[in-house]
Amino acid sequence: MHEMSLAEGIVQLLEDQAGAQQYRKVRQVWLTIGELAGVEVESLLFCLEAVSRDTLADGAIYHVVREPGQGWCLACSQPVVIQARYDACPACGRHQVQVTGGDDMRVSELEVD
Ligand SMILES: [Zn+2]
Repeated sequence: MHEMSLAEGIVQLLEDQAGAQQYRKVRQVWLTIGELAGVEVESLLFCLEAVSRDTLADGAIYHVVREPGQGWCLACSQPVVIQARYDACPACGRHQVQVTGGDDMRVSELEVD
C-alpha cells in the first residue's frame, strides 16, 4: 500500500511549506489526483488522517479533485480522454495512446491559519 508513503509525503510538504509561508495550522487541503495516478483515494484519505495527527495538519479536511486521464492518440493525431493507462483510443480503438496528463497528484490549494 503506497498510499501511506504518499500521505507522509503530503504532510511533510505541508510542514515544509509552513516555514516558508508562515502558517501554523492547516485547515483544508485540496488535492488534485489524476485518474491515471494509481492512487486509491479512500485509503489515501484514511492514511492522511492518521499521518496528520499531532502535526500542524491535525484535523485538517482533505478534499479530492479527480482529474481525467488525458492522452494523445498517435493514430488519430488528437487528444483523447482515457480511463486507464493502457486503454485503447476511444475514437479508433488502437493502442497507440501516449499519456499526456492526469497521471500525477498534487496539492492544488490550501486553507491555513
Ligand atoms: Zn485513435
